Amino acid sequence: MAGVSSLTAGLFLHGSIGRHVADQVAERLTQDAILAADLVRSDANPEANADAIADRLGEVLAIRVTLVDSRGKVLGDSELNGDALGQLENHAARPEIREALGSGGGSSTRRSATLAEDMLYVARRVDPADPARGVVRVAVPLTEVSRAQREIRIPLLTAALLSLLVAWALGRLVARRLAGRLEAMSKTASEIAGGNTAARALPTGRDEIATLGRSFNRMADQLDERLSLLSRERNQLVGLLDTMVEGVLLTDGSGRILLANRAFERIFAATPPLRGLRPLEAARVPALQEAVEAALSGDGPATREIVLPGPEEKVLGASLVSIRENSTTVGAVVVFHDMTELKKLEKVRREFVANVSHELRTPLTAIRGYAETLRDGALLDSGRVREFADVIHRHARRLQALIEDLLDLSSIEQGQSRMDVAATSLHEVVSQVEAMIRPLVAEKKQSLHVSVPSSLPRLRADRDRLVQVLINLLDNAVKFTPEEGTIMLQANAGQGRVIINVRDTGIGIPPEDLPRIFERFYRVDRSRDRREGGTGLGLAIAKHLTQAMGGSIDVQSSQGRGTNFQLTFPRA
Ligand code: ADP
Repeated sequence: MAGVSSLTAGLFLHGSIGRHVADQVAERLTQDAILAADLVRSDANPEANADAIADRLGEVLAIRVTLVDSRGKVLGDSELNGDALGQLENHAARPEIREALGSGGGSSTRRSATLAEDMLYVARRVDPADPARGVVRVAVPLTEVSRAQREIRIPLLTAALLSLLVAWALGRLVARRLAGRLEAMSKTASEIAGGNTAARALPTGRDEIATLGRSFNRMADQLDERLSLLSRERNQLVGLLDTMVEGVLLTDGSGRILLANRAFERIFAATPPLRGLRPLEAARVPALQEAVEAALSGDGPATREIVLPGPEEKVLGASLVSIRENSTTVGAVVVFHDMTELKKLEKVRREFVANVSHELRTPLTAIRGYAETLRDGALLDSGRVREFADVIHRHARRLQALIEDLLDLSSIEQGQSRMDVAATSLHEVVSQVEAMIRPLVAEKKQSLHVSVPSSLPRLRADRDRLVQVLINLLDNAVKFTPEEGTIMLQANAGQGRVIINVRDTGIGIPPEDLPRIFERFYRVDRSRDRREGGTGLGLAIAKHLTQAMGGSIDVQSSQGRGTNFQLTFPRA
C-alpha cells in the first residue's frame, strides 16, 4: 500500500517536475529572447549586422537565434549563413513571429522546416513599442527539454524505487509482527474452543491489537464464568435427578435419549451411557418405547401403567409429558414410579378384607345355624340344648378371639399399643410363659425343655408383649407337633444381642409357604389349621410386636422334622 502510494507520488512528481523543467526552459528562452532583443536594439546598425549578431548570440546562449524584419524576411540566423540565409522563405506566417509582431511576444512548439527538428520557439519584438523594428526569435530543440526531463527522471525514479523498497520492507516487518500477534490470539481462541477455558491472550502495548486482546480476554472470562455456571447448574440438576426415587427420562423430538437418571437405570436395568439411544435400545422393554412415543405424540400430560416381567414382576406408573416449542414437539419427559409395593399392598388389603369377611362368616354362620335349630324346637331336647349351646359358645369365643387379634394387630400397626420397652429379665418372662404352656404340653403328652442360662444378660423388650409373643410361638409349637413330641425354649447371648429359639419336632412348614408365614390369615393347611382353632393372625401379631420392640423374628423349618422360630432382641 505504502509502496503503491510512494510510486504514485513518484510518478506524479515526475510529471510535474517534467512540466516544470519545460516551463523553466521556456522561461529561460523568453529571457534570452528579451536579452537578444535588447542587444539588437542597442546595435548601431542591426539590419546589416543581423546575421553576425545572431551567430554571436547563438554561440553565447547555445541556442538558435533568428532575426526577422517587420515583414517577415529573415535577416540573420545563428544556424544559417550566406546563401542558405538568402534562400530562406518569408517567416511572417510563423505563428510565434506573427504573434510577436502583433502583440509583442509569442511562442510555439513545432517542427522546424529549416532544421527538420521539433523546436520550441519564443519570439520578441526588437523594440517592444515598435513592431517595425522586427522580431528576435530564439529556439531550442525539444530534445533539449526532453534531455533535461530525462536528467531528473533517473534520480526521481531511483528515489521512488528506494522508497518503494523501504515501504515494502517496513510493511513486511509490521505485517509480520501483526500477523504473529493475531496468530497467537487465534491459537488461544482455538484452545478455548477445545475446552481449555483458562487460556488467555497476552495483550502488550496500547495499539488496536492490544485492545482487541484485552476485549478477547474479557470475553473469555465471561465465557468461562457462564460455562462454569452452566456446568454447576447441570451438575445440580443431575444430582437432584439422581437422588430421586422416580426414574426420569428426557428425550429429544425424535425420541432419542438426552438424559436418564440413576433410578431409571436401576428400574430398567439399563447400562449407561444411554445418551443418543432409543428407549428400546436402552432397555428391552417395548412398553417403554411405546410410552415415549405416546408422550411425543400426545397433547397433554398422560399416565400409563407398565408391567416389567421377570422373576419379580414390577408394576410402574409412567407420567408422560411432551415438551413443545412453538407448537412443535421438541422432546418428552417420562417419569416412572415403582408401584410394585403399592400394588402388593393393595392386593394384601383386598385379600385382608376378603379374609376377614370369610373368617367372620364361618363362626357367624355356625352360631346362626345352631341358634335357629334351637329356636325351631331343639330346645325341647335338653341333651342337645347343651351340645348346641357348647358349639355356639365355642364359635362365639372364636369370633371374639378373631376380633381381639384383629384389634390387637391394627393397634400395633398404627403404633397405638403402648410399648414399655425396658431392661427385662428373660427368666421372669419364661417362668410366666412356662406356667401357661405346661398344661397344653401335658395334654398332648409332649415334653418341654427350657434352657435359659443364669448368666444371660437382660434384654430390651416390653415384658408383657414378650410373654404374648412367646406364648404365641409355643402355642403353635404345641399345636403343630404330634403327641409325645418335644418343644424347646432356649436362649443365648450373641454380639450385643439376646437370641431366643422356640423349637419343635412337629410337622414343619413346606419351603414354599415359609416366606408367607408371617402374613395375616396365612395358613399352610387352611381346613386343618382352622380346626386347631387358630385365627391365622398369631404369627403376624408376633412379628409386628417383635419389630415394634426393636427386635426381629426369623423362621427355619424342615417338613416332617420340626420348626425353629428365632427371636433376636438388643441387650439392655
Ligand atoms: P394360627 O393362629 O392359625 O396358628 P399363625 O399366624 O400363628 O396362625 O400361624 C400361621 C400358620 O403357620 C399356621 O396356620 C401353620 O400352618 C403355620 N405354623 C405356625 N407355627 C408352626 C409350627 N411351629 N409348625 C408348623 N407350622 C406352623
